[in-house]
Amino acid sequence: MDVDDRAGQDKARMAPVESGAPEGPSRLRTWLCQPLDSLARVLSRESEGILVIRGVACGCGEGARVFSIELNEEEGVAALTCRKCRRTIRLYERSLAWGLPRKEGEQPKVFPYKCSCGGHAFQVAVGMEYPRDRVSDEDMLQFSIAAACLACDEISVAFDDEGD
Ligand SMILES: [Zn+2]
Ligand SMILES: [Zn+2]
Repeated sequence: MDVDDRAGQDKARMAPVESGAPEGPSRLRTWLCQPLDSLARVLSRESEGILVIRGVACGCGEGARVFSIELNEEEGVAALTCRKCRRTIRLYERSLAWGLPRKEGEQPKVFPYKCSCGGHAFQVAVGMEYPRDRVSDEDMLQFSIAAACLACDEISVAFDDEGD
């Protein structure tokens, strides 16, 4: 855990949040924003825990919300690359959800996600489901990514991983 993460968690603990609802991992918070309604709809479902749905924006410029998606479903890894500035955002790693960060240099290979139309530019929202008695902001029951294809408007669930 780096210093930024610790600072984020302290803030989260001290903040007078009504419900104490999780906001997603602190390392992701700068990227999270209001999701598109259409994406939020595909991600919402009945949950025994707490379901947090957020859009993703890069912040490199006005409307920088278009990404390509890189996945390794077997290893439970998902990343986004901003189409504007090419920055990569490591959205999810199953091993982090289990509290076992990988050593440097052990990043599994990721593969580009494509829409059924062949498009690979998407607006993205994430669904993060937490247990009610979560121990940390990485302690997710499930992590899902919904994607809206820029070329054809098709909406798909690109990635879905259960943390356990
Ligand atoms: Zn960017
Ligand atoms: Zn498409």
